[in-house]
Amino acid sequence: VQANPPFSRLLDEVCSVVRSPRLGKSIVYWMRMGDLRTVDNRALAAASQQAAGDKLPLVVLFVLSPQDYLAHDRSKRRIDFVLRNLSVIKVSLAELNIPLHTISHTIRRTLPSKLMSFLESLQCTQLFANMEYEVDELRRDLQILALSKEKGIRPHYFQDRCIIDPGIVKTKDGKAHTVYSPYQRTWIATLNENLDTYLEESPLPQANASTIHEDPILGPLFSTPVPDFVDGFQLDPADRSTMANVWPAGSTAAQEILSRFLNTKSRPSQLGAADPLADGAEQSDKCSRILVYGEQRDRGDRDTTSRLSPYLSAGVISARQCVRATMSLTGLTKVDAGKTTGIGRWVQELAWRDFYTNVLAHFPRVSMGRPFQEKLADVRWEVDEEHLTAWKQGATGIPIVDAAMRQMNTMGWLHNRMRMIVAMFLSKDLMLDWRLGERYFMEQLVDGDLASNNGGWQWSASTGVDPAPYFRIFNPYIQSSKADPTGDYIRTFVPELKSLKGPEIHNPPIKVADKLGYPRPIVVHAEVRERAIRRYKNPGQE
Ligand code: FAD
Repeated sequence: VQANPPFSRLLDEVCSVVRSPRLGKSIVYWMRMGDLRTVDNRALAAASQQAAGDKLPLVVLFVLSPQDYLAHDRSKRRIDFVLRNLSVIKVSLAELNIPLHTISHTIRRTLPSKLMSFLESLQCTQLFANMEYEVDELRRDLQILALSKEKGIRPHYFQDRCIIDPGIVKTKDGKAHTVYSPYQRTWIATLNENLDTYLEESPLPQANASTIHEDPILGPLFSTPVPDFVDGFQLDPADRSTMANVWPAGSTAAQEILSRFLNTKSRPSQLGAADPLADGAEQSDKCSRILVYGEQRDRGDRDTTSRLSPYLSAGVISARQCVRATMSLTGLTKVDAGKTTGIGRWVQELAWRDFYTNVLAHFPRVSMGRPFQEKLADVRWEVDEEHLTAWKQGATGIPIVDAAMRQMNTMGWLHNRMRMIVAMFLSKDLMLDWRLGERYFMEQLVDGDLASNNGGWQWSASTGVDPAPYFRIFNPYIQSSKADPTGDYIRTFVPELKSLKGPEIHNPPIKVADKLGYPRPIVVHAEVRERAIRRYKNPGQE
């Protein structure tokens, strides 16, 4: 784990014993943006156990930190999703007499000292949190570690985000994997050899003996309200209600979405009326979504994937829970991650999530605007505001690209194949810097996740770990006919083309497009493809 000092230092410290904590009045669990649940949450479960053992009340803390959100290009939708989930969590915690305390903090770098004051005011003896792998967050946690040692507060950091924690799956030489297939092979072998370790479900938190505000010393420390919005991240009311319908908050909602994907029973799409593509039709035993996932996962015009990414990114459901659910479905004692079944294919996607988190933890430069393939740092990009705007707005004149961008702008979510198509189009056809697209995605997505988003962008722009070779450039029209063979996807999100039937929907003749008021293509794929290959072949030369 030598590649990233903050990560390896924090890992070492996780296991180190801090001197005995002072006597105090509370145990604090600091809930972060990626662990918004009470079920199967390692740090929360351990904090609760400690609190019960020490006969101290447990307090849950959440820090609202707008500067962090800005630094990570967090979307308003993601912040809204966090707040909606916190409101649900607050209710479940209240049933256990556990207060949820939110504090707002503006200046990023002073957070560790503010946090310490807060912990001292609570007379906290031990602090529990799940690790975040972004480099600024790792550095912040190291600072907190140092400060808490001074104050006699014992910190405990847990790894909870992945199925297999970063740093575990290594190459034979003990290095971090930079190619997915061997990573995935070792990942599944490691998992199956240690199922109890990696898939163990953490117990639910236990109830506090009394409500905190009844405590004579901690009197004023009761739950604080969860705000409706964070300054600078307020959603338009219309967007807020779409998001609340499309992506309902809470672990129960996440569980229902998982069941809808795994089970054969008909359930309405969680996207409801906002999702005309959803197939609410009764499904037979043979065609639950996950069973046909292998063949159908690339279909943008069908409701074939789990749509769990917002819940996994925010930790509303644990990835462990998802894998355990696949085991119940297969009835096997091992996890299936083989290519031959839909279930195995789906588990492989969960492994991609672990892979990119592992990459982020080991090579933090990827999240700091650097390409993983340093030799491609000098690729010459176009500077073209008009093209960038057309891409963002879904007005490029290439129907599949426009449909995808409009879907993301409306729903805050996009099918994986569509993400690949629009990312490749931006970085190869338009030859615009992939970092502009990466940022725009983060600003729009409800599931925006630094590791997966960066991984997906660097894959598409051929600059990442195990990337698409630079000369294999997607032809958006061919991609369109494969990912949307019925044309339903385009018809749904590009209403100008609703009347078109058959293959011409993928590349409407200019006369037809003009008549329908649809823009002409802003680039000619066959021409710009050659430009991309030249520039990638000779970075810095053209
Ligand atoms: P399913 O197909 O049901 O997969 C199940 C879960 O596996 C997903 O929810 C996700 O957690 C994980 N997963 C699936 N594919 C990938 C992948 N390629 N990489 C990493 N994890 C994966 N995913 C995000 O969660 N947040 C992002 O910000 C994000 N940005 C992306 C940007 C680009 C350019 C690309 C190409 C991919 C990006 N992905 C991102 C990965 C992937 O597109 C989404 O996870 C997936 O489309 C979510 O839909 P789903 O939940 O129905 O996925």
